[in-house]
Amino acid sequence: MAFEAVCGDKIKEYDRKLLTEYLGEKYHEWERSYYAKDEFDTLCITCRATVDKSHENRTFTTIQDFYDLKVKMVELGEWEEFYRWGMKKYAEECIRSITQQGYANWLFRPESCALVDDYLKQKGTSNAHV
Ligand SMILES: [Zn+2]
Repeated sequence: MAFEAVCGDKIKEYDRKLLTEYLGEKYHEWERSYYAKDEFDTLCITCRATVDKSHENRTFTTIQDFYDLKVKMVELGEWEEFYRWGMKKYAEECIRSITQQGYANWLFRPESCALVDDYLKQKGTSNAHV
């Protein structure tokens, strides 16, 4: 799954499954049913749970997704560290002189879901809360 970089124009890979599980939610994957081409099998490939057909995995392309990640980081006591880490990223990759206002505007965008992905991978604790 490709996602546009938070700054610059390089394409950034990020992991929707990792982010979903960080939120304590299930990321389900389906197989096409052998019997009915256009229907999803109701068994999840990864966890073997029976999945409601209306289930949709999070896309992490909305500000709500980023907000939910923020709430989870606050809950886990990781928000402040992430916030400082993000500011360094902002300064290094995006702009030389930073302001709190500029950083806040930059941070609170759907694209920052990818930043959370980066942060979790860098910390290496991405599966700690699953
Ligand atoms: Zn599943």
